[in-house]
Amino acid sequence: MDLNSHIERILWTDQQISERVSELASQITQDFTNSSSSTPVIVGVATGAFLFLADLVRKIQLPITVDFVRVESYGSGTVSSGKPKITCDLKIDVRDKHVIVVEDIVDTGNTLSLLIEYLKSRGSLSVSVCTLLNKPARRKVNFELLGSGKFYCGFECPDYFVVGYGLDFAELYRNLPYVGVLKPELYR
Ligand code: 5GP
Ligand code: MG
Ligand code: MG
Repeated sequence: MDLNSHIERILWTDQQISERVSELASQITQDFTNSSSSTPVIVGVATGAFLFLADLVRKIQLPITVDFVRVESYGSGTVSSGKPKITCDLKIDVRDKHVIVVEDIVDTGNTLSLLIEYLKSRGSLSVSVCTLLNKPARRKVNFELLGSGKFYCGFECPDYFVVGYGLDFAELYRNLPYVGVLKPELYR
């Protein structure tokens, strides 16, 4: 099966992603250098953020720790159920830590608002978000960052269902090196 033939068009090439990831990593490095006390904790949202996180952390020039949570709301469809659940918890204690949540895409905002509330309840000092893509057209919930937290975003995503570079449809397409629009006839 040629995955590339399932893509209607490419929105961001691997080269463009790589350049943008470098910029985000420099910004994070700059913002967290000399930041108070503790080592920042990078919290990836599995599975979608795995490639973005892997590329990002290699370019962050700071001591950091890395952990993952699993938050699920989609099942195998293309529309969120709107009720995400934490289905796999953190291992690292985030109390009094600066946390940077790494996401593949912020769509309705439900996942992030749940996660930020959760990190707050666990005593995080601040919560920042670093997302590869932001799809503001579909926002339903406005999440608030915690403390001195910042919002980092790779690209503003038009209102299409996109796959690749970690993003899936029914667990497929995550290994594409670019982000593209899935042909709608494949999920209609
Ligand atoms: P939210 O809770 O913000 O609605 O959704 C966040 C999650 O929905 C993302 O982490 C991602 O897993 C999934 N999602 C939202 N939009 C898209 C999209 O265009 N393509 C893919 N593959 N997943 C998406
Ligand atoms: Mg995600
Ligand atoms: Mg998914």
